[in-house]
Formats: sequence, structure tokens, C-alpha cells
Amino acid sequence: MKILVTGGLGYIGSHTVVELLNDNYEVIVIDNLSNSKESVKDNIEKITNKEFELVIGDVCNKDIVEDIFKNNKIDAVIHFAGYKAVGESVAKPLMYYHNNLFSTINLLEVMEKYECRRIVFSSSATVYGKPESLPIKEDFKLSTTNPYGTTKLMIEDILRDLYVSNNDWSIAILRYFNPVGAHKSGLIGEDPNGIPNNLMPYIVKVANKELECLSIFGDDYDTKDGTGVRDYIHVVDLSLGHIKAIEYVLKNKGVDEYNLGTGKGYSVLEMVKTFEKVNNVNVNKKIVERRPGDIDACYADSRKAKEILGFEAKKGIEEMCLDSYNYVKKNL
Ligand code: NAD
Ligand code: UDP
Repeated sequence: MKILVTGGLGYIGSHTVVELLNDNYEVIVIDNLSNSKESVKDNIEKITNKEFELVIGDVCNKDIVEDIFKNNKIDAVIHFAGYKAVGESVAKPLMYYHNNLFSTINLLEVMEKYECRRIVFSSSATVYGKPESLPIKEDFKLSTTNPYGTTKLMIEDILRDLYVSNNDWSIAILRYFNPVGAHKSGLIGEDPNGIPNNLMPYIVKVANKELECLSIFGDDYDTKDGTGVRDYIHVVDLSLGHIKAIEYVLKNKGVDEYNLGTGKGYSVLEMVKTFEKVNNVNVNKKIVERRPGDIDACYADSRKAKEILGFEAKKGIEEMCLDSYNYVKKNL
């Protein structure tokens, strides 16, 4: 089976390519390197001892995408390519709508033309906006609070419409909660450009003395210790969720949405304390104002992915904290 992975050199894509190769899928990656490095290919090949084809190109460029389908019999696609920074999407909405929507529409048009109608799409828990209750189920009301989230919701709608137009499609929409951690080898992991926005990369840089102090955004939330609660999922578990989803779309038809989380929520303070304990380091921290737009708590009802895809996250926060720090220490 040959799988096209868009954005396959990025954080989640690279870990998923490792698991695909481990499972003996043939893999072609298209990535424009806008948020990744070509050297990730070598590292994936080192980990797996297997090779794959890399097309350095933009999914927004239809000719490049079409060439891939012309020259290969692609059985299914995993579509990771896109921009993902919430703050940047507020500052540059057109850039986000352009890249995330055009790339997806191009890809789907070419897939339709070549009658490849199996796709796994990277969505996000951000499509739940401010949930009315917890844990979050897939049939909750959807809404967004920033252009990045809106691109995800729009693409979900496009995919649902596509299935209505042609029931031959098989589409798995995966709504990720908070991916963290890295591959055990330390060869691939998360490499945010500049100052990180997300909690785990920020903690890692403070522990590593690249940044001075972690700002904890608010301690007056309606949570166990007042700090924000999220559902952190190890990126290797998340990648294995994609393998289950690919197996499913290859065998079934339809369109459906799945939460990929652990179903457990941890507070910012719990994450920082666990990180300090398992890595035996100190993380300077201070409580500051809430970050605008943040919600108190967000965690998945993860039963649907388990029941239908047979996926369950196994790794706990200790392993997430250990692997995140290990990657950064090895790649200084
Ligand atoms: P990432 O930025 O590390 O990976 C995305 C990859 O896509 C990068 O290698 C980038 O170079 C590439 N890319 C971007 N636009 C492209 C284009 N037009 N053509 C070709 N390549 C392009 O991000 P990630 O964390 O691995 O996320 C992967 C997907 O999962 C994204 O769609 C993201 O929105 C979604 N997601 C991520 C998170 C998260 O917290 N990391 C959470 C929910 C959803
Ligand atoms: N957070 C924090 N300091 C930071 C980054 C994040 O206190 O420097 C908190 C944030 O308020 C939220 C949690 O950590 O409660 C997870 O934030 P992240 O940005 O990683 O994910 P998201 O908000 O998208 O779930």
C-alpha cells in the first residue's frame, strides 16, 4: 500500500512516517520545508532503516501534486500540511486561509481526478471552541475563535460535503488534543521557530536555560489548582492513531470524526512538576495574567476512536516530559 503524506517532515508527520514505514507501507512525502528541515528525512530513515521518496514542493501547487498521482498509484493520503500557529493566524489570516484551504482543495481535486478517495485529515480540538461540558464528545457543537481554527472547521465541512457528493469517499477527520513528546531515539521531535507558544516547548527551553522563566497564564481558573487543564497526548501514540485511521479508511467508506486524546486532563502546574521530577531539573516559573482566549479545561472523550478505530493512547505524562527533554538535549 502506498501512502502520500503531506507535511510529512513536520512534527506529527515525521513520527507518523516512522510508524508507516515500520508497518511496511510505502511512503511518499510532500513538504515545502516552510516549518521543517530536509535532514528530518535522514533521521526517519535512520530510525526505521527504510527509505521513502520525498518531494520538496508546495501542496498549493497543483502541477506538483498531480505529478505525484500521475507517477504513482496512491492508495490513501494523510494530510498534515498546513500552518498551525493560533497567534500568527490572527495577525495574518489571509496567509492561513490561503495555505490551509488552497492546499486542501488542490489535493482533493487531484485525488478525485485520480480516483484516490481515502484520506486522513489533521483537525484539532480547537474546533470545539469553548465546550459546554467535559469530556468533549465528537458530536458537540463546533465553533472557532481564531482563523487557524476556522480553517480546520472549513476543511472539515469541505470533507463532509465531498462525501455527500460521492459516497465512494472514505474520510477520517482526526481532532488532536495536545500533542507533546518526541521519538525515543531523540532523532525527531518538535522544533518550534523562535519563542514557543505552547506549554511543553516553552518548559523545555526554560529547563535548558534558553529562556529565563515560564509564565503560567492564570491560576484562577475553575480547575483543580487554578491553572489551565489540557489533554496531552504523546506524539508517538498520536502517530499510531493515524495508522489505525489509515487501516480503517482503506477498508471502509464514509466520513467520520474522531478525538485523539488520552481522555485525561492535567493542569499546567501538574505538567511542570512532573517535568521537574522526571528530568531532575528546575523550571523557573511565575504566575501571570490569563492568556486571552484560553479556556479553563479541555479533555477528550476518547471512546469513539477506541470503539471504531481500535486506538487507545498508552503513554503517560512522565514519558511525554522525559522524551520532550531528551530530544532537545540531544539536538542543542
Ligand atoms: P508542523 O508545522 O511541524 O508540520 C507541518 C508540515 O507541513 C511542515 O513540515 C511544513 O513544512 C509543511 N507544510 C506547510 N504548508 C505546506 C504546503 N502548503 N505544502 C507542503 N508542505 C507544507 O505541524 P505539526 O505539529 O506536525 O501539525 C501537523 C498538522 O496537525 C497541521 O495540519 C496542524 O494544524 C495539525 N494539528 C497540530 C497540532 C499540534 O499541536 N501540533 C494540534 C492539532 C492539529
Ligand atoms: N500555558 C502557560 N504558559 C505558556 C504556554 C501555555 O501557562 O507559556 C498554558 C495555557 O494557558 C494552557 C496550557 O498551558 O492552559 C496549554 O497551552 P498550549 O498553548 O500548549 O495549548 P492550547 O492552549 O492550544 O491547548
